[in-house]
Amino acid sequence: MLIPARMSEAEEQRWVNVMLDKLAAQESKQVLGDSELAERAEQLSAQYFDGRARPSSVRWVTNQNTRWGSCTPAEGSIRLSHRLQGMPEYVVDYVLLHELAHLLVPGHGPRFWRLLEGYPRTERAKGYLEGVVAAERLPHVPGARGE
Ligand SMILES: [Zn+2]
Repeated sequence: MLIPARMSEAEEQRWVNVMLDKLAAQESKQVLGDSELAERAEQLSAQYFDGRARPSSVRWVTNQNTRWGSCTPAEGSIRLSHRLQGMPEYVVDYVLLHELAHLLVPGHGPRFWRLLEGYPRTERAKGYLEGVVAAERLPHVPGARGE
């Protein structure tokens, strides 16, 4: 840990505390690894779909910038965009649940959305993701973000 020169002992202690807080915050935000993601998918499938959605693989991918998640039902594989990393857990869960639902029902018809009705944060998660997309489209002009 690098500490700026010429600090009083009190300042130094405060600095150390700030850095420790930052580290703790980073740790609590740490993303799931692929195996934890698969575990999470299993839990969600059990909780909301009576375990009927059984993916053969669930993993993060970095080559997916226009979709949050995708799946190949024939293979039972699910991929989540790395852009979801660091987003709230309920958002990641929603995308995971969405792709799990596609293993059971293709397309976005009423049967599909009925599957997701059991997840209480569907609307909130969709709103969050829409907000992320909208924010990315804002012009990067000073003052444009309500400063
Ligand atoms: Zn979909």
